[in-house]
Amino acid sequence: MTNKQDLNNLKDDEIYFYLICSKTLKNFNLYSEDDLFKRLKEIYKDEKEIIEDDYNVLFDFVKDKYRYELLNNLLKQVVEYLKKDKFPGYKDNFLVDHLNYLLDFITDYCIKKSQFIKQKSLNIPSLDGNLREEFIRELLKGLDPSLELLNKYNWAKDSKRIINLDEYSIEESKIILAKYGLSKPIDCCLFLDDGPLIILSNKGNIEDLVNFAHEFAHFINGKRLSPTLCEYYSIFFELYTMKFLLNKNFTKKEITYLYSYRVNDIIKSFFDGSIPFYYLKLYLQNEEVNEKDDINFYKNIENARKLAHRSCDKCIEQLMRKPYIISETYSYLIGFVLADITLNNLQKEPNLLNEIISFGKNCNDNPQDIIELIDFQIDNLKRKKVKR
Ligand SMILES: [Zn+2]
Repeated sequence: MTNKQDLNNLKDDEIYFYLICSKTLKNFNLYSEDDLFKRLKEIYKDEKEIIEDDYNVLFDFVKDKYRYELLNNLLKQVVEYLKKDKFPGYKDNFLVDHLNYLLDFITDYCIKKSQFIKQKSLNIPSLDGNLREEFIRELLKGLDPSLELLNKYNWAKDSKRIINLDEYSIEESKIILAKYGLSKPIDCCLFLDDGPLIILSNKGNIEDLVNFAHEFAHFINGKRLSPTLCEYYSIFFELYTMKFLLNKNFTKKEITYLYSYRVNDIIKSFFDGSIPFYYLKLYLQNEEVNEKDDINFYKNIENARKLAHRSCDKCIEQLMRKPYIISETYSYLIGFVLADITLNNLQKEPNLLNEIISFGKNCNDNPQDIIELIDFQIDNLKRKKVKR
């Protein structure tokens, strides 16, 4: 955010931006809405037909002038972030060349999966703390027969880098959570000054093991990974854990339910972010989102212009409120898609697990390496027409 300028020097596009800030950001207090509107009225005082006391009319007028400009600026920032060269894996322009193809592929993959996941809810089978510990050790041995992962786990436990909240009273848990700035029990891996720390809420069912696996992969990877791979290893560990549980005393139905339940969460983030995703794809295809194209999308529908504007405003609002909504969603979705493909390929290629684990241990952050390893034919993806 820029420093406060004298209100009387603000131009109408700036006022539009600050009005959006004031309407969408909780802590925005640079200018009051009233002052912004007063200034806007002054700017338009010579334009006879829009002198209005009704602020909504003024606001609509200025929105019509600048909404697509703002949307394009916000999307530009998203793309710059996603393609940032600070991520070591991007030195080969991976995302510059592939982002739009990947987004299409992810969209199709998720839509296909979302048909599969509509399942009746079951109870997730319970799992007590002792059996969980036993399973963790067996799981890590299976993932990495060299025992390096298991040794890391033992080290983490001994040095209190893993906190199982179920081992504490509710009062003690509250104190622990507060210490790390958390308001409620969640599963996470925090990267503190003295190293990573895993916090697990543990509900006493097999999902605890899956959550552990997810966070433990973050623990091993560190936080340096780029948006393309930062969730990949973790989601792969999750899916591998489900495969592991299938070989225990749980039924296929129970594990399928657990899978669908997890996938549902991931896909929900896709639908929550679907408007920004749609615009991002348009932006990548045409290097800008153009008002005419946007309206044209609704060409046979009454109020096409209104509908297009409404979805554009909605996207602006989401991107202002959560600037990382696209990159977060992207990380989960691409992580899930690549992990799902990896797991499906494990049977065909027994050595694959070994290579993925060693990539994970070395924090390999080059998406191209993973993609080649799992034989994902990215260059064959044909860019399809953008669908909403
Ligand atoms: Zn994660």
